[in-house]
Amino acid sequence: MRILVLTRRKVLFAFLMIAMAGGLLTTIQHSLTAPSLVRSPGTYYMAHTQEKVVALTFDDGPDPVDSPAVLDILKEKEVRATFFVLGQAAQSNPLLIKRIVKEGHEIGNHSFKHDYQQLHLVEEMDQTDREVFTATGNHTYFYRPPGGLVSKKQLETIKNNGHIVALWSVDSKDWRNPGVKQIVDNVVKNVFPGAIILMHDGGYHRIQTVKAVGPIIEALQNQGYRMVTLSELQKMDSGNKL
Ligand SMILES: [Zn+2]
Repeated sequence: MRILVLTRRKVLFAFLMIAMAGGLLTTIQHSLTAPSLVRSPGTYYMAHTQEKVVALTFDDGPDPVDSPAVLDILKEKEVRATFFVLGQAAQSNPLLIKRIVKEGHEIGNHSFKHDYQQLHLVEEMDQTDREVFTATGNHTYFYRPPGGLVSKKQLETIKNNGHIVALWSVDSKDWRNPGVKQIVDNVVKNVFPGAIILMHDGGYHRIQTVKAVGPIIEALQNQGYRMVTLSELQKMDSGNKL
């Protein structure tokens, strides 16, 4: 989430608007004041597996500076990840979208403009899917709502639009820019087999994330973890009912 370009008041306002308009939220993944994880039925946030596999995910890109830096590191480490792209950013950087797929990564849909209220949910999903399809010939399958906020009604709409809502189980909290070491610790200390890890390669200056990616991969590999795309993770999920 592009939390740092928004004021706390704006985030709170957006939250209140959604809560008032949509009734109860089924999922409040995190905000500046409530970063706790709420696991919601019908969303994909982890795989049930004993195997030491995890999925690295990067939101809010592609960014012309930070995404290539992240891609270079993933290439060097021979690790594949999933990029939840914004249609708007994809439209401006089609070559990066091509590169992501060419290098074996997966692309997820993160809306077109990152509107937390998702007032034009289907239109934005479709627009983003079109951008990805035009650049790569692949449709998007996983959808991550901006901020991880999704109502029951939106969840149904997303499913009816042929997408799976993919959230996360380990938040690197890189959106807070807490320092490279803290980002690494947030992942390495909370990881578990089947975890989906949240990071960002766009939306704001992501130099801390770029510097944290290598150490995170090394630490996870030292613990015996292997990193896969979300689709690969889903295939290994013994409890997958989606
Ligand atoms: Zn986001």
